[in-house]
Amino acid sequence: MTKKKLGPMNLYPLLPRTNCGECVPKTCMGFAVQLCERGLTLAQCPPLADPKFQIGLEKLEALLAPPVQEVVIGRGEREVRVGGQLVMHRHELRYFNKTAIFTTVDDTMAGEDIASRVKETSSFAYPYIGHTLRLDGITVRSLSNDVDTFQKTVEMVNGLTGMPLVLWSADPVIISAGLETAGEKRPLIYAADESNWEQMAELANHSGCPLAVHADGNVGTIRSLISAISDRGVKNLLIDPGCGFGETLRGTLDNMTMIRTSGISGDDSLMGHPLIGSPVTLWDLRNSLPDESIRWMESCLASMMTIRYADLMIIRDPSMWSTLPLVVLINNLYNDPRKPVSVEPGLRVFGTPDPVNSPVLITSNFALTYFTVLSDIEKLNCYLLVADTEGLSVDSAVAGRKFNAQKVADIINSSGISNKVTHRTLIIPGLAARLKGDIEDAIKWDVMVGPRDSAGIPGYLKEKWEGVDHKPGWSYR
Ligand code: SF4
Repeated sequence: MTKKKLGPMNLYPLLPRTNCGECVPKTCMGFAVQLCERGLTLAQCPPLADPKFQIGLEKLEALLAPPVQEVVIGRGEREVRVGGQLVMHRHELRYFNKTAIFTTVDDTMAGEDIASRVKETSSFAYPYIGHTLRLDGITVRSLSNDVDTFQKTVEMVNGLTGMPLVLWSADPVIISAGLETAGEKRPLIYAADESNWEQMAELANHSGCPLAVHADGNVGTIRSLISAISDRGVKNLLIDPGCGFGETLRGTLDNMTMIRTSGISGDDSLMGHPLIGSPVTLWDLRNSLPDESIRWMESCLASMMTIRYADLMIIRDPSMWSTLPLVVLINNLYNDPRKPVSVEPGLRVFGTPDPVNSPVLITSNFALTYFTVLSDIEKLNCYLLVADTEGLSVDSAVAGRKFNAQKVADIINSSGISNKVTHRTLIIPGLAARLKGDIEDAIKWDVMVGPRDSAGIPGYLKEKWEGVDHKPGWSYR
């Protein structure tokens, strides 16, 4: 169940209603529609800054506030926003603020191991469909239970990276020492529980840092803690309902679902806070299992908790083989389902193409199509035109008339390709074969029909491009 859907008519009466045209939609009703879809923000209506609209602005802010609070961890370029969710299910609108992944260092680790893990975390980068997938922060855990040891470890990590931190200890004295060192970075304090919540609330209030609330598997206790801590004036809270495996796994996932359902539905505002998954705790229960088995379990558990609404995930280390499925899953889950994943239309140049002999190919701007074609031709000398098909693949775009003769003419004209090659031959994808005649009429170039699968492009060029009196200007570099 999701909170009653906000409609444009809930917002329109609170806007200036002057249709001044200063926003992108140009009209107040258009602006209200896009506010509902979260395509625009209130800051994009300049007249709302006028004090005479102050009351309306406050009402708009309250109406648009997400039922799951958005919390900021860290400061500056690498600060992380978690939560801010509006819907239970992605298809209802979209999810906001990707699940943040924090790795962990323990204050009992050797200095070189800490440095190495911090370096691996901050340099983690995986290129994926036009994005670089990264990790988000570091958790510093006190396992020594020694104030000085923890403070020195926080100091070291803080000096090595600008990434946001989680300070992890149940002892308020130890957390206080960590805050003395890194409090200005707005770390997440982890965590308030039944034994320490008053001191932790005081630390959060004093430092202005967000606070995690933890109770293993007991949603009732979490609710009571949040109520008591909120009454002390702490605003930025996250919930860790514990992390079970084996027999308690189902309970963990049920609790996360229950908390998110209550938060999103608006039935229980105390549950409207971002959720933490902490599969790193599996390493503390390792028994006699080998490291690789624990790592495998941690990866599975983190993936399950991501699907069950975790907004922040604490894992042990950024081992590529086990972390990669998680970062890819998060990227796929958090992209906007209303927008096909696309790349910028335009001209791409591969190698050092020859103006007389090098082929000109064309494809769609659907990201998966583009990157597949790219991997098949990146070692050739050629030009590739990327048509604006609104993010649709070639066959869908042809069927939906998003890849048509006019679109091809548009990209030929806007790309300036006519000034880069002296020949006038365009190779279209095999999946667009039926447009050959229309495209020829529209652009007055010869059109050759390429292979249906871009993997066949090099073989096709060898066989057909040379065969029409062109030299092999497409050749491998
Ligand atoms: S900028 Fe504001 S007042 Fe002007 S048209 Fe847009 S919503 Fe209306």
